[in-house]
Amino acid sequence: MTLICSVCGGTSFTFEPVLWDELVNAWGLTEDERGYVDRQQGECCTDCGSNLRSIALAEAIRQELGMDEWLSPGLNHRRYRKTRVLELNEAGMLSPLLAKMPGRVFGHYPEVDMQAMPYPSDTFDLVVHSDTLEHVPDPVQALKECRRVLKPGGACCFTVPIVIGRLSRRRDGMPASFHGESDTQSDDWRVQTEYGADAWCQALEAGFESVQLNAVAFPAAVAILARA
Ligand SMILES: [Zn+2]
Repeated sequence: MTLICSVCGGTSFTFEPVLWDELVNAWGLTEDERGYVDRQQGECCTDCGSNLRSIALAEAIRQELGMDEWLSPGLNHRRYRKTRVLELNEAGMLSPLLAKMPGRVFGHYPEVDMQAMPYPSDTFDLVVHSDTLEHVPDPVQALKECRRVLKPGGACCFTVPIVIGRLSRRRDGMPASFHGESDTQSDDWRVQTEYGADAWCQALEAGFESVQLNAVAFPAAVAILARA
């Protein structure tokens, strides 16, 4: 199957591995798992620079908005001018695109606590976050908050790094592990949860009505679309 970039429609990709040995060991990844997690973060569209993680997220957003075009031109359409979007942390390479939407609110991470957000209930049509939930101490509470600030019928589109051959585990009591760069030691980027095949369950636990998984080059990149 030809891989197409949901952000711009591009069909050529470059690949640069991003994981380092220490993180791979802490995470306990096999060579195969390392390979697809590397693709998720390091395989990028030549035309727009989006990696597979951002492309999977873009696909989930297109589905939710019922968009026929690719995300980059599509978001400029006048029918999305009143769409209220909450972007938490920078949603990978989609951030500059979302920033152009008049109805977009940006919640800085970690200044905005996802577990107790400073936004009124029933406010947004869409909540977007990317590879952030794994750093939050209580991810179910964070997803409950996402649901609370959504209008009825709204949706939360997000990604977390998922190792599909195992179940999610907490890193409580395990040596600290960090994402970002290999020298990152900030507690904000400390990994609290390593997600596995059951990653979708937390959205239902948090009260979302349905969950849809959007895959790009499975298992390299999966985005979760949770509908309120
Ligand atoms: Zn692209």
